[in-house]
Amino acid sequence: MLTANSTVPPRLRAALTCHSLNLIGGNWSPAASGETFPVVNPAAPGDLLAAFPASEPSDVQDAVEAAHEALPGWSAMPAPERARILDRAITLLEARAEELAYALTWEEGKAIAEARVEVRRGLDAMAFLAAEGRRMGGQTLPSAQPNMLAFSQRRPLGVVGIITPWNFPFAIPAWKLAPALITGNTVVFKPAEQTPICAMLLAEALQEAGLPPGVLNVVHGAGAVGRELVAHPLVRGISFTGSTAVGKEINAAAASRLAKVQLELGGKNAAIVLADADLDLAAREIAAAAWGSSGQRCTATSRLIVQREVAEQLVGKLLALAPGYRVGSGFDPEVKVGPVIEASALARIESYLDLARQEGASVAIGGHRLSGDGYFFAPTVLTGVSPVMTVAQEEIFGPVLSVIEVESLEEAIAVSNAVSYGLSSALYTRDLAAALGYARNAATGLLHVNCSSIYSEIQLPFGGIKDSGFGGREMGPTAIDFYTEWQTVYMQG
Ligand code: NAD
Repeated sequence: MLTANSTVPPRLRAALTCHSLNLIGGNWSPAASGETFPVVNPAAPGDLLAAFPASEPSDVQDAVEAAHEALPGWSAMPAPERARILDRAITLLEARAEELAYALTWEEGKAIAEARVEVRRGLDAMAFLAAEGRRMGGQTLPSAQPNMLAFSQRRPLGVVGIITPWNFPFAIPAWKLAPALITGNTVVFKPAEQTPICAMLLAEALQEAGLPPGVLNVVHGAGAVGRELVAHPLVRGISFTGSTAVGKEINAAAASRLAKVQLELGGKNAAIVLADADLDLAAREIAAAAWGSSGQRCTATSRLIVQREVAEQLVGKLLALAPGYRVGSGFDPEVKVGPVIEASALARIESYLDLARQEGASVAIGGHRLSGDGYFFAPTVLTGVSPVMTVAQEEIFGPVLSVIEVESLEEAIAVSNAVSYGLSSALYTRDLAAALGYARNAATGLLHVNCSSIYSEIQLPFGGIKDSGFGGREMGPTAIDFYTEWQTVYMQG
C-alpha cells in the first residue's frame, strides 16, 4: 500500500509491508473480517501510506484472552528480568529513532524536528520506567506485635487496556506501555486509527526484544474497537488519553464493574502575562506553545490572558513572530507548523473561527485554511476575546490563540480557572509574590512560571484536574501507581 515515495527509509517500508497487522498472542494477523482501513499523510491526503486491520469484536475478544493467558507467566517473571526486555526494546528503538521520527511525521504531520523530540522523549520515558523494575517496592513497618513482620507489596492489576490518541503517536504509547509491562500486567493496546504506524513499530520492537507471546497485544481500529475493549470483563484497568467526552464514557462503562481508569483528557490552557514580565520571552514561548504542533497538544497554550497595559505591545511581538511559523509539510526543514490531522479537524477549527467573529472577536492574524491538498491552517491570533466566548471556553485543537485582557493578577487567575478544563497553565512575571500567588490559586495539574504550558519532564508527575484528568498521574514516580494495587502482609512466627 505504500506510495513510491523514495524518501521512506527501507526498513520502515519493509516493516509496513510485513506488519500493518494486529498482534494477538504473539502472531501478526489481519482482522477476522479481513477488512482494512486506510492511513493517509495529512500533508498530502491523496498519499495512501498503509492499510491496517479494521478489527471486530471477535479480534478484541481474542486479544484479551491471549493477554489473560499470558498473565501468570509474565507477572511471575522477576521485575528486573522484565526490565531487561524493556531495555533491549529501547536499544532497538534507539537504533531506529530516525525511522520512527520519519513515520511520525508521515502519519501525524508534525514537523520532523518535533517528531525527533517526541521519539527522544518516548525513549527517555521508557528508560525511566524500565528502571522501576528494580525500585518497585512496598514498605516494611514496625508491627505492634513482638513476633510479627508487617509489610506491603504491589501486585499487577491483570489485563490492562491502553487506548491512545493520534497527536503523540509514539510518546504516549511508550509512556503507557512501559509502566504497564514493568509492573507485570499484560496489555491490549488500541492505538489511534489515524496513526497506527508508530504503534506498530513500537510493538514490533518490544516483540523482537523478547516479550513472551500474549503479553502485548495490539488491535487496530476506530472508537468501536476501544469501546469493546473497555467493556470486556477481563480488563481490570484502562489507561486512556484522548477527548474528555470519550473519557467520561469510558469512566462510566468501567465503573459498573469497578475496573480502574486513568484518564488524560483535553485542555484549555492559559498563559498569564503580567506587565512586569519579560515580554520577548513570553512572546517566544507563547508562540511556540500556541502554534507548534499546529496547536494539537493537550498542553498547547490556547488563551493569552494579559494585563491590559502591555496587551498591545505583546500582541505586536506575537504578530512579528508569526511569519517565522512557516506552514507546510513536516518534512520541509523550514516548516514549523505541519498540517492538522484530518479534514474534520480543519472544518472544526474553521467553525470556531466563524463563532469567534459572530461573538465579536477580531482576527489579528491568520484565521483561515491555506490553499493546497494538505490540511493546513494558518497560525492565528484572536483579539477582543472575552472569557465567556466559545473560543475562550472550548478546546479548539488548532493553531489558534485567543487574547483576553485583564486588569490584575487576581482577575487573570480567576479567568484562567473559569473553564471546565484544568490541565496546564503558565505565568510570566518577575514578581516572586505574584508567582507564589499563582502557584497557590491556579486550578491546573501543571503550573509554570516563566516557561510555557507545554513544558514537562518525565521524572515528574504529568496530568490534569477537573475535565482534564482523572484516576492517577502518568510519568514520574507516580506512573506505576495506576498499574498496581497494594497488598498488606502480616507474618507471625
Ligand atoms: P478521541 O477521544 O477521539 O480518541 C482517542 C482514542 O480513543 C482513539 O484511539 C479512539 O479510537 C478511541 N476512542 C474513540 N471513541 C471511543 C470510545 N467510545 N471508547 C473507547 N475508545 C474510543 O481523541 P483524539 O481526537 O484522538 O485526541 C485528541 C484529544 O486528546 C484532545 O482532546 C486532547 O486534548 C486529548 N489529549 C490529552 C492528553 C493529556 O495527556 N491530557 C494528551 C494528548 C491528547
